Amino acid sequence: MKNLKIYNSFSRELSDFTPIDPKGEYIGMYVCGPTVYNEVHLGNCRTFVTFDIVYRYLLAKGYKVRYVRNITDVGHLEGDVDSGAESKIDQRARLERLEPMEIVQKYTNLFHDVMRQMNTLPPSIEPTATGHIVEQIEMVKEIIGNGYGYEKNGSVYFNTKKLIEENKGYGTLSGKLMDDLISESRDNLKNQDEKEHPSDFAIWVKASPTHIMRWPSPWGVGFPGWHLECSAMSTKYLGQTFDIHGGGMDLQFPHHENEIAQNIGACGCQPVRYWMHGNMLILNGKKMSKSDGNSIMPREMFDGSSPLMTKAYSPMTLRFFMLQAHYRSTLNITDDAMQAAEKGLQRLMEANEILLKLKYSGAEALTELDGKINQLIDAAFADMDDDFNTPNALAKIFGLVSEIHKFQNALQPINSISQATFDRLKQIMSALIFDIFGLMDEGKTGEGSTDLVDGLMQMIVRFRKEARDNKEWAKSDLIRDELQKIGVQIKDGKEGATWGKI
Ligand code: AMP
Ligand code: ZN
Repeated sequence: MKNLKIYNSFSRELSDFTPIDPKGEYIGMYVCGPTVYNEVHLGNCRTFVTFDIVYRYLLAKGYKVRYVRNITDVGHLEGDVDSGAESKIDQRARLERLEPMEIVQKYTNLFHDVMRQMNTLPPSIEPTATGHIVEQIEMVKEIIGNGYGYEKNGSVYFNTKKLIEENKGYGTLSGKLMDDLISESRDNLKNQDEKEHPSDFAIWVKASPTHIMRWPSPWGVGFPGWHLECSAMSTKYLGQTFDIHGGGMDLQFPHHENEIAQNIGACGCQPVRYWMHGNMLILNGKKMSKSDGNSIMPREMFDGSSPLMTKAYSPMTLRFFMLQAHYRSTLNITDDAMQAAEKGLQRLMEANEILLKLKYSGAEALTELDGKINQLIDAAFADMDDDFNTPNALAKIFGLVSEIHKFQNALQPINSISQATFDRLKQIMSALIFDIFGLMDEGKTGEGSTDLVDGLMQMIVRFRKEARDNKEWAKSDLIRDELQKIGVQIKDGKEGATWGKI
């Protein structure tokens, strides 16, 4: 038992987390990834950062986690699911005069760049929907075989009525009643004549002649319905029932509700033990969304070109800003909030630098401070155990930051805590800031950084000097030219070579 509690959006209660693995070692986690016909916006980033923290914290607790996050590269689109109209990837491909797979690759690469900038750990497996058409077709066959799917004119629909009549919980996750399901079902107005019941949804869609992304199937040429990929890929990589499934709250219905239906239809079992849903990033009082024109792109944030921000904010400032809210609360993004986050992050990093330079000295003369520091550390972990409560954990960390400043200003002697507490403080601050919260010291690793770049440049200058000493002119010129290409100039002087930006 590792004391972790998770709020399960399916049961709507906070409960002890118990892995399915009888030894309690391995965990399977599936998170719905991006749809790659467009750049991700900061709202999408919030959800991916949320589950990055979950992943990091599970690893920090010693679990072995298989983290699967998919890439949706076909099928997720209101337009095409039922009507057979052009998919958004197809539309974009025509607009940008690219192959659909070029669009997919382009936006997948951009997504990976942003995830790297935000310092999220890569998932263990990142499967694509187009790479799992065979598995999806197999699942449709199983669903039909079990009586939960029916074919009409080359499309296949899921029979929600049967699931409802058998009392198998269609609507439980989203808390929707039958009437809501009928009126809110995304695609209830389309292809009504083909569906046996208004809340039925497409699991295989017949492709129109103009539809570019298409595959042969037992029901004719078509493509999978949006919800199917997550059911098929989570089953393939994590098993019929796995531990954690995550995504943004807006995916509860219809996406996750229909995922559950498909899994029940195919194998008769609930796919997920703990459903986790992150709340929305809000801009101008409403959910950030690209299609509503209410969004900020990561690059606009990082290069200062967003008209909604007074300046550029770094990826780590953004990450820190996101940590300041609990993942189940909405988070409102404003310039003021970003400025505050920038200051907060700076204060945290400075305190850690101070701590790393502090040396323990003197014989131990313990005061109550020793207990206080240990309590703050324990409380920060207790907050993380309480459904990943990052804002509360941050508050404890800032309690530690105040104590670190007092050590530095000699307001309290270092030996008022034990050597063991001092060592623990150093180790835990780094673990919390870097490993669990995933923050980076941008002063050290970002552009214009000092320690790392200096070290690397000294090494390169030494290699060049060796080449010159050995009269290997071609090699020394190559080093100079390659550096010039990336904007760095080496100048030879009496004291040896120096370097600077061109
Ligand atoms: P999509 O590419 O639209 O499938 O979205 C990828 C992920 O971002 C999903 O988990 C969505 O729930 C999530 N998401 C979309 N908009 C927001 C938002 N404004 N705030 C937080 N998460 C969001
Ligand atoms: Zn999904």
